[in-house]
Amino acid sequence: MDLRASISLLLLLLIGLSHALPATEEDAEDESHAFSDEPEDSDVTTTETPETSNYADEETDPEEPDYDLTTQILDTNNASTEFLMEGDLVAPKTRNALACWNNQCLWRKSRSGKVEVPYTISRAFPSHERARISRAMDSFHRQSCIRFVPRSRQRAFITIENRDGCFSSLGRTGGRQVLSLNRRGCMVHGIIQHELLHALGFQHEQTRSDRDRYVKINWQYIQSNTRHNFRKRNTNNLGTGYDYSSVLHYGRYAFTTRRGAETITPYPNRRVQIGQRTRMSRNDILRLNRLYRC
Ligand SMILES: [Zn+2]
Repeated sequence: MDLRASISLLLLLLIGLSHALPATEEDAEDESHAFSDEPEDSDVTTTETPETSNYADEETDPEEPDYDLTTQILDTNNASTEFLMEGDLVAPKTRNALACWNNQCLWRKSRSGKVEVPYTISRAFPSHERARISRAMDSFHRQSCIRFVPRSRQRAFITIENRDGCFSSLGRTGGRQVLSLNRRGCMVHGIIQHELLHALGFQHEQTRSDRDRYVKINWQYIQSNTRHNFRKRNTNNLGTGYDYSSVLHYGRYAFTTRRGAETITPYPNRRVQIGQRTRMSRNDILRLNRLYRC
């Protein structure tokens, strides 16, 4: 066999092999486990004992990754081009978000007694991610009078999109409002609930006016240009106690300037867990029901 014949034979063999062993397709699903921090929050009008571990009666997703929700939101949003307040709230362009506790910012109750929140979901989400979003919405349906309904012609609605970060407006804006769930960082049950709660009008737990009785803010580890994220707000606490286990609480390393240095430390018991990312706490659900008079 001459050289040319040998090369041809070799090529044929290689072609045969490549057909026999088709390349395996990489699963596009991306769930990063790289984050590990915790969030916290505070603001109470009552003197109740703060909630420390008070999950709602809801089944847990065994696949739920074990890292901090707030940190993940903040990490995901780090490169976001949106102007975000407190890490994941879209800054209102036409009015002050703090005025959101007047009823204009709330979704309306229909004659049936249910509060309907129209939504659309971008086609960017494949079916298993749409299922995740539906599952988070169902958790509201089971535990409150909130009903997320596919939009027909309503003027005010939420459009769920795969933008660069996890973020939402605060409360009902009256028109089309984006709720972003980035496919790479936000497709976690507790994060979806967190953003939906913002859209329903809830602020971060650690911005409560009474938070200083429950957490210590370590200003020395907070970059000056992110300090506004820790400002106290005039929040409506709906007669519920400060809730360390709220899904709306920042983690203890939120916006830290130094790895391992806490920006939020629970007080007086510094070991209390904050910044959980599993699901809404009992208090989160209680407030939801009180705000909307379910
Ligand atoms: Zn948030």
